[in-house]
Amino acid sequence: MPEPLQHAGPSVALSGVTKTYPGGTVAVDDVSVAIAGGSFVALVGSSGSGKSTLLKTINRLIDTTGGSIAIDGAEVTAGDPFRLRRRIGYVFQNVGLFPHMTVAENVAIGLRLEGARDTRDRVADLLALVDLPAAFAGRMPDALSGGQRQRVGVARALATEPGLLLMDEPFGALDPVTRDQLGGAIRQLHDRLGLTTIMVTHDMAEALILADRVLVMEEGRIVADAAPKALLAGAGGPAAQALVAVPREQARRLAGLAAS
Ligand code: ADP
Ligand code: MG
Repeated sequence: MPEPLQHAGPSVALSGVTKTYPGGTVAVDDVSVAIAGGSFVALVGSSGSGKSTLLKTINRLIDTTGGSIAIDGAEVTAGDPFRLRRRIGYVFQNVGLFPHMTVAENVAIGLRLEGARDTRDRVADLLALVDLPAAFAGRMPDALSGGQRQRVGVARALATEPGLLLMDEPFGALDPVTRDQLGGAIRQLHDRLGLTTIMVTHDMAEALILADRVLVMEEGRIVADAAPKALLAGAGGPAAQALVAVPREQARRLAGLAAS
């Protein structure tokens, strides 16, 4: 298979990022974090903790009310948001394929917006990249399984060869087996393409298994920031440890069952 896509993941630096919604909710509260180029970061926290809001400030789907964000040292607010988003792949929380468009049209939409005419070869490469058969190009989204649809979502996100990939609970609606397979596939893609990846999830086990670094969010703030190994060894404070306790306890019970 050809290797058409060479990416170089940029660094992402958030400094005092704050988002207060018009109603007064402080969804993101003074978040500062420096993400190294090429790293895979998981953003974990309970529902309503501000994960999606924080993620969307990076590609300017949401405007901040304070602080600044720089990608490879360049302020995201310095240029045009559409141009910015071409350099940032984004996988939506609920897949978000256009139901009236074929798989190929969905994958190529970013390329079309850039003015590309014949996108067939690129679509074929992108489908191969996410391990989907080339024949899927002509299918409609409702003729695919949930996992296949999400692979299309990833292919679409990578179409403009972004170095930065943002994913908002990408596996949320999938069964556990598909979820596990797709998680592994995404991590392989991340490594192979040299991406910088930021993945929102509420599943600490998934974060520990896939990421290099886990950020825990609570009420708009980052309350823990540690590598999976350190978290498993007890780092990160009470909020992080409460989340780590869930998969640990499950593993303990399963081990107990197997031994009984
Ligand atoms: P998460 O992704 O962790 O579930 P969100 O970022 O979606 O959290 O939401 C964080 C907080 O901001 C929540 O209290 C939520 O109700 C609020 N919120 C999210 N979107 C909006 C909006 N468009 N207007 C007002 N409040 C919002
Ligand atoms: Mg969310």
